[in-house]
Amino acid sequence: MNMLKTENLTFECETGNYHTFCPISCVSWLYQKIEDSFFLVIGTKTCGYFLQNAMGVMIFAEPRYAMAELEEGDISAQLNDYQELKRLCLEIKTDRNPSVIFWIGTCTTEIIKMDLEGIAPKLEKELNVPIVVARANGLDYAFTQGEDTVLSAMAQRCPKISIQNHKQAPLIIFGSLPESTANQLSQELTKQGISISGWLPERKYTQLPEISEGSYVVGVNPFLSRTATTLMRRKKAKLIRAPFPIGPDGTRAWIEKICSVYQIEPKGLEEREEKIWNNLSPYLEIVKNKSVFFMGDNLLEISLARFLARCGMTIYEIGIPYMDKRFQSAELELLEKTCLEKQHFLPKIVEKPDNYNQIERIYDLGPDLVITGMAHANPLEARNINTKWSVEFTFAQIHGFGNAGEILKLVTRPLQRKSMRSSSFV
Ligand code: SF4
Repeated sequence: MNMLKTENLTFECETGNYHTFCPISCVSWLYQKIEDSFFLVIGTKTCGYFLQNAMGVMIFAEPRYAMAELEEGDISAQLNDYQELKRLCLEIKTDRNPSVIFWIGTCTTEIIKMDLEGIAPKLEKELNVPIVVARANGLDYAFTQGEDTVLSAMAQRCPKISIQNHKQAPLIIFGSLPESTANQLSQELTKQGISISGWLPERKYTQLPEISEGSYVVGVNPFLSRTATTLMRRKKAKLIRAPFPIGPDGTRAWIEKICSVYQIEPKGLEEREEKIWNNLSPYLEIVKNKSVFFMGDNLLEISLARFLARCGMTIYEIGIPYMDKRFQSAELELLEKTCLEKQHFLPKIVEKPDNYNQIERIYDLGPDLVITGMAHANPLEARNINTKWSVEFTFAQIHGFGNAGEILKLVTRPLQRKSMRSSSFV
């Protein structure tokens, strides 16, 4: 195991032998967010089986995604990739008439080196529909990073404008959030006198935000490091490094950081945060002095751990699939500060964890709650260890002041279930 001790937090890197969702799962929330899109996953039956099962009942609602299932002839290059994809995309265009077709590359297209980026521009011209290629494969990425590959590809399509048209440098927020949550965050910034020039993604592909050199960009999720890099390198935008708006503490820090960039004195944030904490007090009673162990599979772990530490929980370990220390720098600082203020020891951050080793550590430490995937949840429950299924944090609304209760609802449910269970046996 490689071990690196920074001044304060400890970072470790294990074998990468852990459970997570394949990043192609991002089509399930992105096709709902971008209403005029169609997602074509170019892969095998393995990918199809995964999506079909992971998406549950959603597959009966005629989703705007499909599999282009590769056959023997595709693999051995006896069929012509260009003609095959043209046939499928024509069908999609006729049936659904989308404003954009996303091609999602998979492990197989990587291994057989299918030239999706080369074919897309030609077909795009021929069919007159934008085709955006994202390599959201399981070889390189984990779960939510799928969204990162899609947004990073979309960022390159954002039109350029001249910054002189604006009084203040434009602000673009990146990260896909449900409409109501995105509106809440926009309103918080508007209250501080900051206007938002656009979101990446918006509800429609045709409304891609304009990004000019010198625009400010800020992320709402910790897994968007590639998108951030693309915006900085390709669009010459300036990244605001802030903690993420998860939990009242994170939301306040996020707004404050944006205000500081625009040299605006934030108004009423302290009272706002305090009020939210007061409303959370019934939950806080339950989580106070409890310990939590994150096995790590969705990259939200640092932000959630920081919020739970602020709630009074002890964090034993934060497993995480991939740790971009630069993109998450403000979040890491806040985690450290929170633990010091709460007089908790600083948790260990384990990148690319090894689930087998983690289970051993869980047995040793005996945490009150383990946040983990479905593969380990029931086996741990059977061994009397409380678990929370980590995927729920990805699909629940957890951003902004108003949604802090949602996170604690998820965390406290298994803790309460345990106390109910023990009280029913006398
Ligand atoms: S890991 Fe690869 S083969 Fe498996 S579902 Fe994902 S893209 Fe398909």
